[in-house]
Amino acid sequence: MQGTSMVDVAANTRTVLARIQEAAVKCGRDPATIKLLAASKSQSAEKIRAAIAAGVRLFGENYVQEAKDKREAVKDGVEWHMIGHLQRNKVKAALDLFDLIESLDSAALAKELDKEGKKRGRKVAVFVEVNLAGEESKTGIDKDRLVPLLEEVGKLSHLSVEGLMAVPPFRENPEAVRPYFRALRELQSELSGLKIPNVELKELSMGMTHDYPVAIEEGATIVRIGTALFGPRED
Ligand SMILES: *Cc1c(COP(=O)(O)O)cnc(C)c1O
Repeated sequence: MQGTSMVDVAANTRTVLARIQEAAVKCGRDPATIKLLAASKSQSAEKIRAAIAAGVRLFGENYVQEAKDKREAVKDGVEWHMIGHLQRNKVKAALDLFDLIESLDSAALAKELDKEGKKRGRKVAVFVEVNLAGEESKTGIDKDRLVPLLEEVGKLSHLSVEGLMAVPPFRENPEAVRPYFRALRELQSELSGLKIPNVELKELSMGMTHDYPVAIEEGATIVRIGTALFGPRED
């Protein structure tokens, strides 16, 4: 593939890992507490294989059907997260494909995931996606609806909420995104104080190509990187 050979995924992976390390050291964090998730939507299986060869062990996809095609083509022992909006009618397929759903954003979806987890005899691991800026155009749950959602989840025995995820508004200057990252970390500590059953918010999934060093300084444990690893998306 012509386009693919022009992007050196291995070199890009090294660069991103070095920047993660640098950002962690700068703020006194252990770099081992930060995971790189490769956001591979619209990227080829070939590039995903190159990232795996370069040591990436966690991938994120946004669409169930695309993830299905890729997983068949990649067939490797890596971990996959659903990072796009999940429709209730795709829950079954999503649970066949993903180890964790980062985009839980409603009680209705929580119930569907729990029901399907029960059938499979497994606890479904999820993050709650928060719409930090209350943007109409974005998925994720509004901050003021978080507690009611988590209390619902507290009643579901086959769901376990392990973190929070957010896609803050894009700002030219990544420093301008910092207050959103900080807000997600503050939500994490406030909500952890409530001690809700089935809720243990260990992970903060935040930061993308444009702003991940800032996200790391604010406590990200997973950064979701697409363009910096794979080059511009192929769609
Ligand atoms: C595409 C995507 C990313 C990665 O975006 P880049 O800017 O290319 O790093 C991260 N998170 C989500 C939810 C995405 O859809």
